Amino acid sequence: MVKRRHRGMERRIAGERMVTLFRLAESEALRRHPGRARRYVELARRIGMRYNVRVPAPFKRSFCKKCFAFLLPSVSARVRVGRGRIVVTCTACGAIQRFPYTREQRTRRASRTPTQ
Ligand SMILES: [Zn+2]
Repeated sequence: MVKRRHRGMERRIAGERMVTLFRLAESEALRRHPGRARRYVELARRIGMRYNVRVPAPFKRSFCKKCFAFLLPSVSARVRVGRGRIVVTCTACGAIQRFPYTREQRTRRASRTPTQ
């Protein structure tokens, strides 16, 4: 008898496992165990690749894309806010990630203009 694989169910479970692993990574990073945190991030990413599941949105920016360290501001990451962008530096390997937020700035400006 052939065992049927249910893709939708597999992917849903994969997503749940990834969330669990990222939570574990966060708690280990908080306990100053960067090695364990990195391992959990790696496992979560591997599950994501295996089942073609994206990294859950809340954790998308929470790890270093280069060395997979869990990025915790002030613990394992430096966060700076610049002109229209957020710059996150991984303190483990020094990799820099930039996230734009010009859209948020534009909407704020648009809501301010009617009074002028
Ligand atoms: Zn890094």
